[in-house]
Amino acid sequence: MARQVTVVTGGSRGIGAATCARLAADGHDLVIGYVSDGAAAEWTATAVRSAGARCVTVRADTSDEADVDRLFDVAVDQLGPVTGLVNNAGVTGPLGRLADSEPADLRRVVEVNLLGTLLCSRRAAKAMTAWGSGVIVNVSSASATLGSPGEFVHYAATKAAVDALTLGLAKELGPDGIRVNAVAPGMIDTDMHAAMGDPDRAERAAAAIPLRRPGHADEIAAAIAWLMSPESSYTTGAVLRVAGGR
Ligand code: NAP
Repeated sequence: MARQVTVVTGGSRGIGAATCARLAADGHDLVIGYVSDGAAAEWTATAVRSAGARCVTVRADTSDEADVDRLFDVAVDQLGPVTGLVNNAGVTGPLGRLADSEPADLRRVVEVNLLGTLLCSRRAAKAMTAWGSGVIVNVSSASATLGSPGEFVHYAATKAAVDALTLGLAKELGPDGIRVNAVAPGMIDTDMHAAMGDPDRAERAAAAIPLRRPGHADEIAAAIAWLMSPESSYTTGAVLRVAGGR
């Protein structure tokens, strides 16, 4: 069977990096998108190549239309028609109440998490419709249904929008042979918590999680890999919660 060509946005670190490693083992060639940490992207690319996959890294801010176009153009030029997209890139901004937030932070979260997912999905939909098949997995969040009061209601709102996008695009693209699903992680132990100003946040949350621990990035990667695979061939429009029972 021909190897699939999958674009993973935010593939340099955390859940995205674990997803790239898992998909490489599952037979995908990978385009690793990142925005600033080129060293992490190269580190992940080395792991992907050592699993036998072809791989390119592309610095592309998903909120920028020209960057997204370049991301997909490089993918096609170097690896061939894009058959998969994992919309993983995401940011939260600093933790806090909405009233205390900065408008620039709100704008950035909406632009990366929602507009970025829309722009990448738009490019993928064009390519996959022409190709006649494809799979998109969006990385949402359990916060879409928890609301995340006092922490980041703006981020939760963007993830709820990603869930709505998942449902609508699945219905729009189903007749074209394209499946669209989402994974909604709970508290996962990645650098994201340090970036929002609270490195110990995931460990501290353990008591409030029914499974009594934060999740690992590879546990999210496994769910994404299943939704990317033919094993989930009749699943579309689904939001798969992987949140330890939360
Ligand atoms: P992370 O460790 O902070 O990694 C974020 C990744 O996204 C990095 O690869 C980063 O690239 C990339 N990125 C950030 N902004 C970008 C942009 N504008 N354009 C392209 N790439 C960008 O985060 P994570 O915890 O793995 O989170 C991954 C996804 O899971 C996000 O969508 C997040 O909302 C979601 N999620 C995470 C958790 C959690 O507890 N960790 C829970 C629920 C949902 P650089 O390396 O270049 O900075």
